Amino acid sequence: MQSKDRGKKLRLCHQQTFDVLVIGGGITGCGIALDTITRGMKTVLLEMQDFAAGTSSRSTKLVHGGLRYLKQWEVKMVAEVGKERAIVYENGPHVTTPEWMLLPIYEGGTLGRFRTSLGLRLYDFLAGVKRSERRQMLSAKEVLGKEPLLKKQGLKGGGYYVEYRTDDARLTIEVLKEAVKHGAQAFNYAKVEDFLYGSGKVIGVKAVDQLSGEVIEILARKIINATGPWVDFLREKDQSKMGKTLQLTKGVHLVFDQRRFPLKQSIYFDTSDKRMVFAIPRDGKTYVGTTDTVYEENLEYPRMSEQDQVYLLRCINDMFPTLQLTEKDVESSWAGLRPLIHEEGKGPSQISRRDEIWQSSTGLITIAGGKLTGYRKMAELVVDLVAKSLRGDGGFGPCQTKHLPISGGEVGGSGQFLSFLEERAKKGVKLGLTVHQAEKLTRLYGSNVDRVFDYANTRLESTLPLDLKLMLVYALEEEMVVKPTDFFIRRTGAVFFRIEWVHRWKDAVLEHMAKYFSWTQSQRKNYAKELEDALTHAVEAVK
Ligand code: FAD
Repeated sequence: MQSKDRGKKLRLCHQQTFDVLVIGGGITGCGIALDTITRGMKTVLLEMQDFAAGTSSRSTKLVHGGLRYLKQWEVKMVAEVGKERAIVYENGPHVTTPEWMLLPIYEGGTLGRFRTSLGLRLYDFLAGVKRSERRQMLSAKEVLGKEPLLKKQGLKGGGYYVEYRTDDARLTIEVLKEAVKHGAQAFNYAKVEDFLYGSGKVIGVKAVDQLSGEVIEILARKIINATGPWVDFLREKDQSKMGKTLQLTKGVHLVFDQRRFPLKQSIYFDTSDKRMVFAIPRDGKTYVGTTDTVYEENLEYPRMSEQDQVYLLRCINDMFPTLQLTEKDVESSWAGLRPLIHEEGKGPSQISRRDEIWQSSTGLITIAGGKLTGYRKMAELVVDLVAKSLRGDGGFGPCQTKHLPISGGEVGGSGQFLSFLEERAKKGVKLGLTVHQAEKLTRLYGSNVDRVFDYANTRLESTLPLDLKLMLVYALEEEMVVKPTDFFIRRTGAVFFRIEWVHRWKDAVLEHMAKYFSWTQSQRKNYAKELEDALTHAVEAVK
């Protein structure tokens, strides 16, 4: 996925016919592309922004069964998604890490000790949780031992269970890279503007290269609308927006430095308005979320509002009363849109997170709703449908992704990841990295870290520290980074978790990218502004 080849390769797709064309490069679209290509279907994926720039870089970043949904008796969904998380972990242990989660129980809270114990046991059973990760019930003293910052008043004990932490945007790119390795074509900044029809059936799309303005027509036997929050826009273009529609809700997360919010332990806590909020330590920061409010504004750039900030700060200060955090402590933030399927009379937090597949009379397939965690299963269901309708054309086989490592996941199985990490860290140190840097790169790239290390000898005109140089060159050569925001937000997560590092190195990265792509002055200015805006919006709440 070389960045410089992108425009040329996209142009070559003009008038080509694919078996499947996927619209949307979030986790849903990328999962589908991996499934179709590994069943032998000639596949192309088009994404109008950067890969994962929609909801798939803006989630709580957990691969989880959704314990909360047991409250709504979504037993089947919890069971399905819970089982999927083990598969996601096994296939990509570098982007998914087990994380013990503490669920404190308070006098008068919505979670009683008995219900929590029963709920967690049911969760273990439904999700098929392995023995070493099954739930434990803790006393109040044990809870405070794990997290002394928690409110002491009314604390009765807690539940302790395992979730999996991930990097949503990196999970998405790793799934896509695996699809490309198997022969799929994928392009970011390629927007589907219209559909092409023949005999009343959708037979292709008119796409516009958002970087050059060129229009490309691409034909396909099956077209899948996997555009998350945008699915209804494309259904409108296809004149098939009828029956069920989407309801978008916004979820915001705030990031704090560990010096100000020194959380030791991930916590999933009850709020005074009977919602559930996560607080998770990560890479020297603590992030907290999420909100859940109806959203009807700009889809491309959802942002934290003052109300979101005030609400989350109140939740934090209620549960961790010694902190007294204020808006000045917010170091970064992100906001994402949940593409939920509208249910009459239900509030945002009560709407089901189920996915559904809709097929229009023109043959356009739309996949709506769902979770990051269930991406592989969702893809399997959609592609089963596609395989059935293309049967006469190719005889495509069954789903191949259950035991297929994603890109970077070939570390010898999840049980071997720590020894893999140790070994590759030694290799990185020999190249001149510190142990910390070498480990960080190994966690980021998994088995691809060998390719990353191979770029150590690349000569650059700009002076960059070795770890940054390796990340940037790899992102340009193999992860289709075309803008500085692609690199700093979605390939490295740095705007969220290393914002000071972004401020320090943004000019050097811009300089290198400007030379690499031979940008004009005005291109360079625009990309620099886009990055500055992203940095400002991460800390500044909208009034
Ligand atoms: P998206 O990621 O939005 O992808 C759709 C893509 O389509 C976008 O990138 C968009 O640019 C592109 N597109 C739109 N129109 C066009 C067009 N015309 N042409 C080309 N491309 C187009 N799930 C979990 O499992 N765990 C969690 O912890 C979790 N937390 C969440 C927290 C929040 C706040 C939110 C909002 C969601 C959370 N989810 C979580 C749900 C999960 O993030 C989403 O279900 C998932 O990311 C949706 O992916 P998607 O690919 O369907 O949509």
